[in-house]
Amino acid sequence: VPRVRFAPSPTGYLHIGGARTALFNYLYARRFGGVFILRIEDTDQERSTPESLKAILDGLKWLGIDWDEGPDKNGPHAPYFQTQRLDTYRQHADQLIAQGKAYRCYCTQEELRERRAQAEKEGRAYKYEGTCRDRKDVPEGRTAVVRFKMPSQEGTVSFDDLVLGKISKEYSDLDDWVMLRADGIPLYNYGCVIDDHLMEITLVSRGQEHVNSTFPQLMLYQSLGWQPPRFAHLPLILGADREKLSKRKHPEADVMQHARNGILPEALLNFVIRLGWSHGNDEVITRQQMMEWFDFKDVGSTSGVWNPDKLQWLNQQYFKTLPPAQIATRLATFLDRRGFRLDWGDPRGPQFVMAFRERAKTLEEMADMAVPYLKQGVTLDEKAAAKHLTAESLPLVRQVREAVAALTDWNVPALDAVIKSVSERASVGMGKVAQPVRVAVTGNTTSPGIGETLLLMGRDEALRRLDAALS
Ligand code: GLU
Repeated sequence: VPRVRFAPSPTGYLHIGGARTALFNYLYARRFGGVFILRIEDTDQERSTPESLKAILDGLKWLGIDWDEGPDKNGPHAPYFQTQRLDTYRQHADQLIAQGKAYRCYCTQEELRERRAQAEKEGRAYKYEGTCRDRKDVPEGRTAVVRFKMPSQEGTVSFDDLVLGKISKEYSDLDDWVMLRADGIPLYNYGCVIDDHLMEITLVSRGQEHVNSTFPQLMLYQSLGWQPPRFAHLPLILGADREKLSKRKHPEADVMQHARNGILPEALLNFVIRLGWSHGNDEVITRQQMMEWFDFKDVGSTSGVWNPDKLQWLNQQYFKTLPPAQIATRLATFLDRRGFRLDWGDPRGPQFVMAFRERAKTLEEMADMAVPYLKQGVTLDEKAAAKHLTAESLPLVRQVREAVAALTDWNVPALDAVIKSVSERASVGMGKVAQPVRVAVTGNTTSPGIGETLLLMGRDEALRRLDAALS
């Protein structure tokens, strides 16, 4: 059974890159009947916050990416928070020390800083020189970190990445890296290997910035005699400015910012899957198709680029293809923020969706378009009123008012038919009737078709506004 994981550090909101890593792992598990694990790497205690954790979980939930094991779910390898697994890290470190595969290092920060500065002066990359490798004494008053012991300086470590192909590194480029800090907190490479192994992860997929970490991690697998998982490192994601998409420079890197802006989760998910993965020329890819098609072998190695127009285009595609009632529930949240309540089941919800989905690119825009129909009363644009609500046109408006009031069914064809018959009886063009009616009910001269406008307004409010114009 494939077992994959997403291992975020809760030090900020859910980033688009993180969402992609989560999505790919999730889809892989779903496609191949595997298990998707969420592991929280909260070892950076200064930067990890409960708010970030919540933001990440909320982001995943909004996108509909659910995990099988992890926070709120537990599972056979609980706990899924690294700070709750310190005993495990300690035990394995002790064992490695006993076997001579790791050692305690008493070098102080001060000493290390000096040596690093010296290396820099000499223009060479700093590598820990193994000072404490064979140390037998325990210097007084000093605490120890635990370092991994490179088995040799000669050799090559390599792996076959599912995306990047075969890559290797010389042992001589690696050093005796720190596994555990003096306070028992694991460093990333160490905690990651222990957990990936104990959680029986079969495939690790993460961002390309972690490629170089894979080599020391593989050394540790080797040392422990553990079978490493397979790896798939995902290409970079660039902003529209072609710079690496970063939280600092790109507000669009925040997943929930798109939720707030009125992008549908379906559209964002679709946008994200195309950052590095493709299926022929398909652009609109439903969740169902994602689960049927996704595989790491179709992830390319070229960077994905942020394209705001494409995201909005996708959003509109989902406006047009998802059931209007489903979009209406989301629209309701945006109307709520504007002070208008649309109860579940109110037919105007789906009607708004149908009326505006060709023009609105976001729920935010759709809500703005709907507001004039929900407001009580209308503010007449003076120019429009002077031009269209005249002694000549008001009698026509009155005829329309009476005819629509008599309708049993308030629908577009019936409303349009009224305009038509009034204009025919008066022997004028339909515009001569529709435009004054439009000004009377919307206050100005731009709106969807007149029948649709009256429909969206609802019978009561439409009649009230016509009466106000006639009084
Ligand atoms: N906590 C690491 C991160 O947030 C996880 C890297 C990995 O998946 O191994 O980038």
